[in-house]
Amino acid sequence: MRTVIVVGASLAGLYAARELRAQGFDGRLVVIGAEPHAPYDRPPLSKGFLTGSGSGTADESHIALADAEETAELAAEWLLGARARSLDVRGRTVVLDDGRTVAGDGLVIATGASARRLPGPPLAGVHTLRTLDDARALRAELTCGPRRVVVIGGGFIGAETASSCVALGHDVTVVEAAPLPLVAQLGPEMASVCAGLHARGGVRLLTGVGVAGLRGAEGAEGAGASDPGAAGARTSEAVRAGRSVTAVELTDGRLLPADVVVVGIGATPNTAWLAGSPLAVDDGVLCDDGCVTALPQVVAVGDVARVGGVRAEHWTSATEQPRAAVRNLLAGHTVDTAHALPYFWSDQYGSRIQFAGRRSDGDSVRIVEGSPDGLGGDPSAGVRGEGFLAVYERAGRTTAVLAVDRARPFMKVRRGLAAERAAELAGV
Ligand SMILES: Cc1cc2nc3c(=O)[nH]c(=O)nc-3n(C[C@H](O)[C@H](O)[C@H](O)COP(=O)(O)OP(=O)(O)OC[C@H]3O[C@@H](n4cnc5c(N)ncnc54)[C@H](O)[C@@H]3O)c2cc1C
Repeated sequence: MRTVIVVGASLAGLYAARELRAQGFDGRLVVIGAEPHAPYDRPPLSKGFLTGSGSGTADESHIALADAEETAELAAEWLLGARARSLDVRGRTVVLDDGRTVAGDGLVIATGASARRLPGPPLAGVHTLRTLDDARALRAELTCGPRRVVVIGGGFIGAETASSCVALGHDVTVVEAAPLPLVAQLGPEMASVCAGLHARGGVRLLTGVGVAGLRGAEGAEGAGASDPGAAGARTSEAVRAGRSVTAVELTDGRLLPADVVVVGIGATPNTAWLAGSPLAVDDGVLCDDGCVTALPQVVAVGDVARVGGVRAEHWTSATEQPRAAVRNLLAGHTVDTAHALPYFWSDQYGSRIQFAGRRSDGDSVRIVEGSPDGLGGDPSAGVRGEGFLAVYERAGRTTAVLAVDRARPFMKVRRGLAAERAAELAGV
């Protein structure tokens, strides 16, 4: 293999480039990224980057994923600010938005996902949170005086953003259409416990109600209209439209006044550029257990990849999949699988939530350490509560583990589950 193209210059793309070099690929390596930025880490964007605290401070150098030395060592050609528009039918030539073409004999698809938006015309003051530019724009609005913030969606990104906004002194409401946030991920008992974090943090949580639409007005006070810095944060489209958000209308008729709205309703895999290629796409690029697509010289990793039927939007999956994917790419067929144990974490209201494993509806859940009542702590003082550790079980076996502020015992159970998973994959 002489040239490998990586499309997507973020977490999974960078890890794929690292693996290619680590596994001995010494040919031409081209990394194509739609954003103008070198690879950066997204988890801090909803946490310390917004609040300017902790290890993910507002200093952008803290979120860089690679330093100059490592970047040089990778000896890659970085085409940043360049969007892949299409892939030819043989899966070998990538056409860019500006008409340039890049030909290779191997391809890693790492184009991630984009934040879902609400339908309707753009309004200043309405944000999504997926990219560094999104986070810069939101932060600019949050640092110019108290705002009425409505977060639409109580998933991890919505909850973390709400937590950051309240820490900055804003008046925050979260609207969640489901009866409970995070119920699909955590199951009803534990979702209910974690929902309690919002109230503890001083955020109103409205559940079981949808959003009918957003209200806006010409030259409304929202979106930091009088602040030049914040004005710069508005999307150019919204500025042209000259309308700012004023309220969120709920499906039950209630109207929530709002200066800032954050839409956190999930993400869609970035696969549009693959239309017309021979690759199968269905909520992600379809791959086998080793991240290999229908073409053996094309692999997919990270948020865009549906590996063995599962598409995970977790940091750890994006960093673990490239090892097997690159092995398979260089071997020319699947010799390794990438089915590690799913794991994610979330930091909200001064607590760390960690989850690992595969939970199914009907699994029982048992608190094995601490108590949900121990979710005390004092987020404003940075003091964590006692927390708890819970295990999910089916037919006498542990299927998953959840911890709130119990990192050490969590890691022990996670390691055990990972070992069982590895043995299962090895057919032991
Ligand atoms: C705000 C936020 C907080 C998060 N917090 C956590 C957390 O606490 N814990 C956790 O486990 N996970 C968290 N995640 C999820 C984690 O960051 C993602 O799983 C991870 O970023 C996925 O990496 P990726 O490289 O697959 O995709 P992405 O990070 O989405 O990167 C894909 C890249 O490809 C580029 N691209 C897209 N289309 C094209 C194209 N056609 N041509 C060229 N380039 C293209 C995109 O611009 C982007 O730069 C968070 C995500 C966000 C957004």
